[in-house]
Amino acid sequence: RFRGLTLADSLELRVRENPRRPFVAFGDRRLSYAQVDAQAAALAAALHELGIEAGDRIALTLPNWPEFVVATFAAAKLGAVVVPLNPRFTNPELQYMLRHSESVVVVTAENWEGVDYLARFEQFLGVLPDLQYVVSVGDEDLWYDDRIHQFEDLVSSGEGREYPRFEGGADALFAILYTSGTMGKPKGVALTHENLMANASLTADAIGLREDDVVFGVNTLFNAFGIGTGMLGTMAAGATLVLQEGGDSGTALEIVQREKVTVFHGVPTSFILALNHPERASRDLGSLRTGVVAGAPVQEELVHRIRRELFPGVRVGYGMTETGNMVSVMRPDDPEGKQVATVGRPLPETEVRVIDVDGSVLPEESVGEVAIRGPGVMQGYYRQPGETSQAFTADGFFLTGDLGMVDEEGYLHLIGRRKEMIIRGGFNVYPREVEDRLHAHPAVLDVAVVGLPDEILGEAACACIVAVEGAIVTGEEIRDFCREVLADYKVPDLVRFLDGFPMTGSGKVRRVELSRMISAEESSRR
Ligand code: ATP
Ligand code: MG
Repeated sequence: RFRGLTLADSLELRVRENPRRPFVAFGDRRLSYAQVDAQAAALAAALHELGIEAGDRIALTLPNWPEFVVATFAAAKLGAVVVPLNPRFTNPELQYMLRHSESVVVVTAENWEGVDYLARFEQFLGVLPDLQYVVSVGDEDLWYDDRIHQFEDLVSSGEGREYPRFEGGADALFAILYTSGTMGKPKGVALTHENLMANASLTADAIGLREDDVVFGVNTLFNAFGIGTGMLGTMAAGATLVLQEGGDSGTALEIVQREKVTVFHGVPTSFILALNHPERASRDLGSLRTGVVAGAPVQEELVHRIRRELFPGVRVGYGMTETGNMVSVMRPDDPEGKQVATVGRPLPETEVRVIDVDGSVLPEESVGEVAIRGPGVMQGYYRQPGETSQAFTADGFFLTGDLGMVDEEGYLHLIGRRKEMIIRGGFNVYPREVEDRLHAHPAVLDVAVVGLPDEILGEAACACIVAVEGAIVTGEEIRDFCREVLADYKVPDLVRFLDGFPMTGSGKVRRVELSRMISAEESSRR
C-alpha cells in the first residue's frame, strides 16, 4: 500500500483515512495524525524560510519526544534528509557524525538529563563548517543569536505558510542512520523513503498490526528499529505510538498498563529488564498481544519467558540498519518448533542467500554469510564508496556479516557474526554457541565471549561474565560447565568476571572494545 510513496505521502494517506486517530502519545500529550501532519507542514515552511532545501541534512539529536516525529515528517515534506543521532553520544561522537553527514541543521533538546545541549551545539556552530542552525526544544529565550531557533516558535511562524512540496519521489535519499558500532566505528547507512516505508509496512503486515493497536517499547527513535519498525510500522497500520523518554523498565511497565499497550517491541535486554522488574507481577499487562524482539541474539529461554510471563504472541525478528530494518520475522502461523529456535522466514519480496567464503552460493542447511536483497536494503554507506562496494555481491545482495543457514523449510538460523568468530588454533569458535551454553548457568547474569590475541593459538577465547548478585562461582566451574556439552576447543581459555560491559547506545555489548580492554589487562598482568 505504501509503495512508491514518500513518508510525506504516506502520512497524508493516513490523514485522509483517519485524521483524528492519535498517532503519537507522550505523557498527557496526544497528537493525532492530522496534528502531526499540520505541525510538520508548519515546521517545513519555517525551515524553508531559513533556506533549508531538498537534500539538506537535518540532524535529530532528540530524546523520544513527539518533536522527533514532527521533525521527521517536516524533513520528508521538504525532501530533506534526516540524520537521527543518539543524544547520549559523546561530544566527539556527535561531532564526527554531524561532520560526516554534513548536517546543516541540528534539532535538539535545550536541556535533557542534566546536559546543556543548547550550549553544546552553540559551540558546534563555530566549529562545524556545514552547520548553520540549531533548533531547540525548550523554552529559553533565544533572541541573542539568529542561528538558534526555538522549535515551537518555528512551528507557529510556519503555520499557514507555503513551502515547495518535495516532488522527488520515493527513491530519493531520506535518512542517514548510523549502525550501532558493535564491531567498530558506526557506519552511515543511506536509506530512501521507499527503503524505510516498504520495509515498515511489510513488517507491520507480517506481524498483523491493526489500526486499533497501541505500539510501544522501541525506545530508540534514532535507530532503524525505532524509526522503521517502531514509528513507520505504526503509521503503516494507522495505529498509535506511545513514546517513553528514557529506557527505565519500571516506567515502561507502568506505561503499558496505563496506555493499554497492545504491541511491545524491543531488544532482548529491554525484555529481560521488564521481566526481572519487581513491579512486573503487580502490573496489569493483559492488553499486550504481540511485539518483535530483535536487534541481538535472542535466547530460546527468553522467548519462553516472554510468552509465559508477558504475552504469548511475541515474535522473534532479525534486522539491521542496512536492511532498513527487518529481514525476517516470526509469523503467527509458524510451527511451534520454529518459533523459538529460528529468526523466522524472510519478509515478502526479501531474498536471503547464504554465501561461502569464496563467494559462491551455498545450498540449504549449510552455514555461511547471510546476504539480503529486497526493498529495504540500503543504497550504500554514506560517503564510503569502498565500504559500499565491498558490502554487496555482484548481483546486489547485501553481505550482512552475520553467519547463518536456511533450513529446508526456509527458516533462517543465526549462529553469530563473521567478525566475532574466533579462530582458535585453526578451529572456528562461534561465541554465540558458548554464550548460549553459559546463559544456562544459574550464576551467569550476562556473558560475552571474545577473542584475544594469543602467541600460540593465534586467538584465545575469553568468557567475560557478569555474575548474578551474590552468586559465588569460579572460572574453573564455568569452564567445567562448558566442557559438559561443548567440544574441547570451544571451552574458553580464560574466564573474567566484570561488573558490566561497555555498551552501545542501542544496548549491545561493544565487543571490540571489550576484547581490547581484556587484552590490555592481560598484558599488564604479565
Ligand atoms: P555495527 O554494524 O556498527 O558493528 P551492529 O551490526 O550491531 O553494529 P545494527 O545494525 O544496529 O548494528 O545491528 C544489526 C545486527 O544485530 C545484525 O547484523 C545482527 O548481527 C544482530 N541481530 C539483529 N537481530 C538479531 C537476532 N534476532 N539474532 C541475532 N542477532 C541479531
Ligand atoms: Mg552491523
